[in-house]
Amino acid sequence: MACAIERTWPRRPFKYGVFTRWSSNGGMLVTNMLMVRTVFASGGTVGMAYYCAENEIGLLNLVDVPQVVAFPLAMLGIDFVMWFQHRLLHQFGFLWRAHQVHHSDLDLTTALRFHPFEAFFTVLMRLGAVAIFGTPILAVAAYEILLEALDTLGHAAVRIPTRVDAVLRWVHVTPDYHRVHHSAAPEMNRNYALIFTLWDRLFGTYQAQPEKGHLKMKLGLPDRREAPTLHYFSLLLLPFRSMRQG
Ligand SMILES: [Zn+2]
Repeated sequence: MACAIERTWPRRPFKYGVFTRWSSNGGMLVTNMLMVRTVFASGGTVGMAYYCAENEIGLLNLVDVPQVVAFPLAMLGIDFVMWFQHRLLHQFGFLWRAHQVHHSDLDLTTALRFHPFEAFFTVLMRLGAVAIFGTPILAVAAYEILLEALDTLGHAAVRIPTRVDAVLRWVHVTPDYHRVHHSAAPEMNRNYALIFTLWDRLFGTYQAQPEKGHLKMKLGLPDRREAPTLHYFSLLLLPFRSMRQG
């Protein structure tokens, strides 16, 4: 409205066109939101680690474990909780409804697309994990950085040579590994890992490749009849719609 008024009765001519100004201002908005997301989500877990260390809360703060052991142990601990949380998201009614927002499409930006309910649930689970394990501050910071990097890579529509992928996935998630999880077929209930793939191998939820191959597999939600468009409000309301899981 204010923009329309500005255009109709300009006090002075505009230096730049609407597209130039809006795209750059929109870009700044997204950048700031990402920054806030990083500071609040990651800063929150680091803050919790600091609080637990100061007050001797959590397993690793109660038992005298050398840092060289505590560091990887703590990272594995948080990652296991995140893997378990991802399984919960697929198995329980409203959790799955919220998680469908993330599954409704796949590209690089999917790593950012989570329903607010899921984002809140994830932060609570991660804070809980940090408190239970008494995770060292450095391990939390390292985990957050690694998660951001691998989560973005995992959602990328990028081709990594098969042999390289085969080696990498013994340790961490790759785009081909995670694409199986974004299948519209029941194989979406495989490959839950966020960083370390050993959890899927240990608990029998590992699937090497999609049944129909990476080019022919269908991505997204199982029931496209009810699937929404990717419009903002459709995604926000998605958890309140009735849909079945494939
Ligand atoms: Zn999922």
